[in-house]
Amino acid sequence: MGMTPDELIEEVAESIVSAKRIVVFTGAGVSTESGIPDFRSPGGIWTRFSPEDFTYQKFLTDPEARRRSWQMLKMFGTMKEVKPNAAHYAIGELDRLGKLDCVITQNVDGLHQRGGVPEEKVIELHGTFKWVKCLSCGRRYPIEEIMERVEAGEEVPDCEECHGMLKTATIAFGEPMPVSETKEAERRSRNSDLFIVIGSSLVVYPAAYMPIYALESGAKLVIINKGPTPIDRYAHVRIYEKAGEVMSRVLERVKKRLN
Ligand SMILES: [Zn+2]
Repeated sequence: MGMTPDELIEEVAESIVSAKRIVVFTGAGVSTESGIPDFRSPGGIWTRFSPEDFTYQKFLTDPEARRRSWQMLKMFGTMKEVKPNAAHYAIGELDRLGKLDCVITQNVDGLHQRGGVPEEKVIELHGTFKWVKCLSCGRRYPIEEIMERVEAGEEVPDCEECHGMLKTATIAFGEPMPVSETKEAERRSRNSDLFIVIGSSLVVYPAAYMPIYALESGAKLVIINKGPTPIDRYAHVRIYEKAGEVMSRVLERVKKRLN
């Protein structure tokens, strides 16, 4: 295409200013700058643990798998100390400018909300790490509350109410996708006129269908991701950079144009 990095940023800003229904889609790459490891990257968690040991089926049927799973969470801590980065704040700012329909995210870290996007505009396709839920009665507990019990020595915490099995409200390998979130994400994607992918390699389905729905409906596609994605050739603008700096620069230009 022969555009300079500056011209690419300018083009994204221009697209944002002229769009009416902007959907931002984010993956692990938006949170790595906050220090959250990309689980799939070299050195990531799944190079140290085996995903087959942490499937939904195993969790449900094998007490040892549940024990291992809580031990792994104990190693992680609760992500309380993790902070939103420039990319999260830029997306929050997009919303304050009246330029955000919603964020669809593959992340479970809750950083979009802390970066200024209202809760009701964040669709969490892979669940959230903020809550632990009882698989029997559905009661939800803040993760901090349950991790305190694990820290205090409970190897496999259970529900205070019904003694049912507790599990983080994230979607495990092999666990069905949340139906209403997936439907809503598809609807918003199809309804968008600008779809911005940030920090996702678009290889995990069905999440990766969202930009395809958007394209089918005639939306412009922008992809900001360090590595390649399977649909790069359909992108109106493609930027191979880290999310934080790019998004800050994009927002600067957007604000200039709107004023
Ligand atoms: Zn319960």
